[in-house]
Amino acid sequence: MSDYFNVADIFGENVFSDAVMLERLPKKVYKKLHEVMDEGQELDLATADVIAHEMKEWAIEKGATHYTHWFQPLTGFTAEKHDSFITAPMENGKVLMSFSGKELIKGEPDASSFPSGGLRATFEARGYTAWDCTSPAFVRQDAAGATLCIPTAFCSYTGESLDQKTPLLRSMEAINEQALRLLRLFGNTTSKKVTPSVGPEQEYFIVDRAKYLKRKDLIFTGRTLFGAMPPKGQEMDDHYFGAIRERIAAYMRDVNKELWKLGVTAKTQHNEVAPAQHELAPIYAECNVAVDHNQLTMETLKKVAGRHGLQCLLHEKPFAGVNGSGKHNNWSITTDDGINLLDPGETPHENIQFLLVLTCILKAIDEHALLLRASAADVGNDHRLGANEAPPAILSVYLGDQLGDVLNQLISTGAATHSLEGERLETGVKTIPDFMKDATDRNRTSPFAFTGNKFEFRMVGSKDSVAKPNIVLNTIVAAAFSEACDVLEKADDFDLAVHDLIKKYAVEHQRVVFNGDGYSDEWVEEAARRGLANVKSMVDAIPAYVAPESVEAFEKFGVFTKTELESRVEIEYETYAKTINIEARAMIDIVSKQIIPAVIKYTTVLGNSIQIVANACPQADTQVQSELLTETSALLAETQKALAELKKVTDQGGAMAQGKEQAVFYRDVVKAAMDALRAPVDKLEMIVDKDLWPMPSYGDLIFEV
Ligand code: ADP
Ligand code: MG
Repeated sequence: MSDYFNVADIFGENVFSDAVMLERLPKKVYKKLHEVMDEGQELDLATADVIAHEMKEWAIEKGATHYTHWFQPLTGFTAEKHDSFITAPMENGKVLMSFSGKELIKGEPDASSFPSGGLRATFEARGYTAWDCTSPAFVRQDAAGATLCIPTAFCSYTGESLDQKTPLLRSMEAINEQALRLLRLFGNTTSKKVTPSVGPEQEYFIVDRAKYLKRKDLIFTGRTLFGAMPPKGQEMDDHYFGAIRERIAAYMRDVNKELWKLGVTAKTQHNEVAPAQHELAPIYAECNVAVDHNQLTMETLKKVAGRHGLQCLLHEKPFAGVNGSGKHNNWSITTDDGINLLDPGETPHENIQFLLVLTCILKAIDEHALLLRASAADVGNDHRLGANEAPPAILSVYLGDQLGDVLNQLISTGAATHSLEGERLETGVKTIPDFMKDATDRNRTSPFAFTGNKFEFRMVGSKDSVAKPNIVLNTIVAAAFSEACDVLEKADDFDLAVHDLIKKYAVEHQRVVFNGDGYSDEWVEEAARRGLANVKSMVDAIPAYVAPESVEAFEKFGVFTKTELESRVEIEYETYAKTINIEARAMIDIVSKQIIPAVIKYTTVLGNSIQIVANACPQADTQVQSELLTETSALLAETQKALAELKKVTDQGGAMAQGKEQAVFYRDVVKAAMDALRAPVDKLEMIVDKDLWPMPSYGDLIFEV
C-alpha cells in the first residue's frame, strides 16, 4: 500500500503550535504573546494584528478559505460560525485575503440561540467569543475544505460565562494559585506554575451505517429504544482486548491519522468489554488542551466513521443489556518544572508534602461528593451510574494497599512509619524474568481511584464534555489547599502543624476511602452506614451545583457566580426533560409507523395461513399458528395501550413549565411509560418474522460490523 506514513512527519502539521509561532512571528511579538500566555498579561491590538496576519498566511498555505471561532457552549458539543478571509472586491474585481487582530481576539455570535439558562433573553442577544491563546489554533481539513479554527471562550454581553471553557480556565487559575501557596510552605521557591493534567479515555461503539440508518431511534436519540437481547451478549468476555477486525482497524488508523495531524496524541486503542465497543486514549495534556482535544476526538470519531460506511455511537448506553460507555478522566497536578504533586515516591510515609496533598484531596472529595457526582450527571449516564454497571453512583476513593496502609497508620498512631513494598512476581517460567509488582493492585470498580501518580475519575459519561468534572475537581481541590494553607501559614511550628493537619484530615475524611468491590450490594449498605450519598439520577444530582458549600467554593475563586450556577442548573433540568421528551416522541413515532404496521402484517399472514391450511386440509393441525396469533394479538393490544399512555403523559410533560418539576415528571412518569411500551415490543420482536421486523436487531448491529 502506498499510503503508509511516518507519524513524526504528520504529527501536529495542522496546528499553529509554539514551534510554528517561534518560526513565523517576529521575536518581539512571540515574546509578548508568551507573556500573555504565561503571565496572564493583556494582549494589545498591534500584537494581535501581527499574530492574526501570520496565522492567516500559515492557514492559507494549508488550503484554508475560512476561519472560525471554535467554542464550547452548554450543549455539550462545540459550535462554530465560519467566515471566509475574503474582503470586498477591489476595482480590478479581485479580492484580498485578510484577517485582523480584532477578528482573531473577538467574535460576536448570536448568544440567544445557545442555552443560557435565562442569562440571555432573545432581545438582548449579544455574546462574545474571546481567543483562548493557551489552546493552539488549528486547521481542520475535511469535505468542507480547510478551516482555521480558533479556540475561544464564550461570554454574554454582561460577562457571564455561557460555555465550558471560561470556568475551566478560571478553575485552572484557582488551583495554580493555591497549589503554589502550598508548595511555598514546603520551601519550594522555584516552581512558577502548577497545572492540572488530564488524560481522558474515550469509549465508543461502532456500527454499520446502513443498518444505523434503518434505526430511527439511533438517528434521533443516539441510543436504541427497543431491542430484544441477542442469543449472545458479552458473557464470553471475548471482545475485550480481542484482535481488532480489519474494517475497524482501518477506521482507527484513519482516526489516528486525522488526530495526529491536529496534534492530538492518540495513543492507545483497543476493543472494550461489549461487542462493537472500543476505546481510544490520548497521552495526557494540560487540562484545557485535553478538553479541546477530547472534543476534537469525538468529532473525528464521528466524521471518519462516515467515510468507512460506519457510524460511531458516543451515547452512554446505546444498547440495553451490554455495557455502556464512559470516559475515564485521569487527573494530576504538575509544576512547570516537572514535579507531579500526586507522585508518592518510593516511601510515601516520609513524603509529607504528598500526604498533605492526598489528605486535602480526600477532604475535597468527601465534602463535595455531591458536586463531583453532579459534574458527571448526564441523561445518558443515568443508565450507567447506579444501574448495576460501572461505576457505582456512590463517590468513594480507592487508595490501594500501600497508601491505604499509610493512611491507617496515620489514623491509628498519628504517624506513618513505613510503606508496604511491591513484592517479587514469580512467573514460574525460566525464560520469563521475574519482576517487581506494583505496591498496589488496580481496582476497576472505584469511581475515584488512585492509580500510581494520578487519580482516575470514572463516572464521566462518554458523550459529555470533560470540562465539567475538571472544573469541579480543580475548584474543590483548590479550596482544600487554600484552607490548609490558611492554617499552616499561621503556624509557629510548621512541622508539628502539618503533621496534625494531615492526621486531622485523615481521621475526618476516612469514610470516603473504600478499597473493596464497588459493585457489591454490601458496599451500598456500608456506604449508607458511613453516610455517603448514593444519587442515582441526574435530576437528583443537579441541585448540588447551587448547594451553599458549592456556591461558596466557586465564588471564592471566581469560577462561577451564583447567577451562573443557577443558570446552569436551569439548563440541566431543561436538557433532561427535552432529552427524555425526544426519546418518548421517537418511541411513539416508531411504534405507530413501523412496529404496529409490521405486527399487523404478521398477524394477517398468520391468519391467512390458518385459513389456507384449513381450506386445503381440514384435518391439519393449525394449533401452532393459532397460538402464535393469540399471543401476538395480546402483545399487540398491550402495545397499543402502552402507546396511548405514553402519548398522554408525554403531552402532559410537554405542557409543564420548564424546571425541576418537569424534569422529575419526565423521570418518574414518562420514563416508566417508555419502559412499559418497550416490554411488549421486545417480546414481539422475538415472535415476528425477521423479514417483517422493520429494523435491524441487536445481533445485526453489534455482531455484524
Ligand atoms: P489505564 O488506566 O487504561 O491502564 P493508563 O494508566 O496508561 O491506562 O493511562 C490512561 C490515561 O491516563 C492516558 O490518557 C494517560 O496519558 C493518562 N495519564 C497517565 N499519567 C497521567 C498523569 N500523571 N496525569 C494525568 N493523566 C495521566
Ligand atoms: Mg484507565
